[in-house]
Amino acid sequence: MQILNPQKLSEMMLMPEGHGSTVASFYNNLENKGLQERSQSRIYYMRNSNNWIKSYIISHCLELIRDRQVDDYPIIVLDLGCGKGGDLRKWQKGNIRHLVCADIAETSLQQCKERYETTRNIRFSAEFIVADCTKTRLKNKMKAAEKKLDLVSCQFAFHYSFESLPQAETMLQNISENLKRGGYFCTTIPNANEIMSRLMKNGGKSFGNEVYRIEFPEDRPDNPPLFGDQYNFFLEGVVDCPEFLVHPKTLEKLAEKWNLELVWCKSFATLYNDALKSSDAQRLLSVMYALETYPSRNLVTETDGEYSHAQQYLSN
Ligand code: SAM
Repeated sequence: MQILNPQKLSEMMLMPEGHGSTVASFYNNLENKGLQERSQSRIYYMRNSNNWIKSYIISHCLELIRDRQVDDYPIIVLDLGCGKGGDLRKWQKGNIRHLVCADIAETSLQQCKERYETTRNIRFSAEFIVADCTKTRLKNKMKAAEKKLDLVSCQFAFHYSFESLPQAETMLQNISENLKRGGYFCTTIPNANEIMSRLMKNGGKSFGNEVYRIEFPEDRPDNPPLFGDQYNFFLEGVVDCPEFLVHPKTLEKLAEKWNLELVWCKSFATLYNDALKSSDAQRLLSVMYALETYPSRNLVTETDGEYSHAQQYLSN
């Protein structure tokens, strides 16, 4: 028998079990493949490109924070849905002081912790929290909560919170109440407008190709809900999970309620073109492509800094 306090009971009534455990067990069972194996995958270049985008967004946000502070300002970050720690090197490069890693998948988080502990010369402290961030208030679990955060990053994970309105609200509360005034939240989510447009062009139920597939349920209503508009996303060797559409305008409105103001919202294509205007980004991309074409080639020592940065993408 379980004894529940009234608050716990009302939380359970508001938030049924849902898909969290399916998602957690999917990611927990996902094999941690090495670089050699990943480089054989058909989505290898797409993953590199996603990593490049994440890195661009993260370094841009850290720059915005640093612009307003003194040089050695100790930046504190929360990585929501951090997974196996794919962004740890980005935080290292960004020279942050403390990282809070949170994820619903216990095994992934354990792998993230091991990765942190075995990464050479790591310069920031870290804490690790297993939690469904759409149902649990992290404030009560986070050591860094008193100091408050400069940045919350949620890469390829925020859309899981749109399973229901209470879950999206809890996620936004976790972001808003832990951020300092003037802090930033950055996220990457599937483009709902693009998904709908492709769906309509393909008969309204599913679309994809041999490496990815998006499939909506047969009984999807004609007027789908703003929260809980579920589809299954399959991506070869990486994802096979229920996900939820996030309409950018709905997110913007709900985020306003949690005192988060939209700074920018861009498609990957736009971001890519914007980024290419910077010579640093151009150089990094060209080094990455050289590495991708000739993975074992030893690049000239002058570009060593960029080479190791590019290697970091490849090893994620
Ligand atoms: N952010 C990492 C990255 O970019 O490499 C991992 C992205 S992976 C596609 C999505 C992650 O979100 C998984 O690790 C999954 O366990 C996590 N996740 C999904 N739902 C979650 C929830 N309700 N609370 C916390 N984490 C969640």
